Amino acid sequence: MAIERTFAIIKPDAVASRFSGQIIQAIEDSGLQIIGLKRARLTPGICKGFYHEHVSKGFYAELEAFMTEGPVILMCLSGDDAIKKWRDLMGATNPANAQNGSLRKKFGTSIGRNATHGSDSPTSAAFEVSYFFDSSELN
Ligand code: UDP
Ligand code: MG
Repeated sequence: MAIERTFAIIKPDAVASRFSGQIIQAIEDSGLQIIGLKRARLTPGICKGFYHEHVSKGFYAELEAFMTEGPVILMCLSGDDAIKKWRDLMGATNPANAQNGSLRKKFGTSIGRNATHGSDSPTSAAFEVSYFFDSSELN
């Protein structure tokens, strides 16, 4: 397995519900390293650039309203097989379909308000990490 980087967000629902600590603990328990972390408030413009592949979809307006409603925590994670490892920890997009014990099952409440984000491929991980982090912020 190769050491990879992936991009993670603790979404506004989970930050507001004070689940950030439990989510960060789960990341550390998994063996992934948090090599970059910051709290931010996304704007509609930043959100459109980040979710460019979804801007034309029917759910985009709701997604943007949600992702800009409050602060988020942005992270770059590093480790063996980090992209898949973080997606597995999160669980399926819809918390109703997510595995028991996964973060979206525990902390998500609907397909939209699903607590966390994770990159889905090496290409998206590279784009998403560099969209929010300068290399000097990754240590
Ligand atoms: N989403 C939504 N309705 C849908 C599908 C997705 O509100 O029918 C939201 C949800 O917050 C999801 C995000 O849009 O996490 C991005 O969707 P994607 O299909 O990329 O899912 P993910 O990669 O986050 O599992
Ligand atoms: Mg996705």
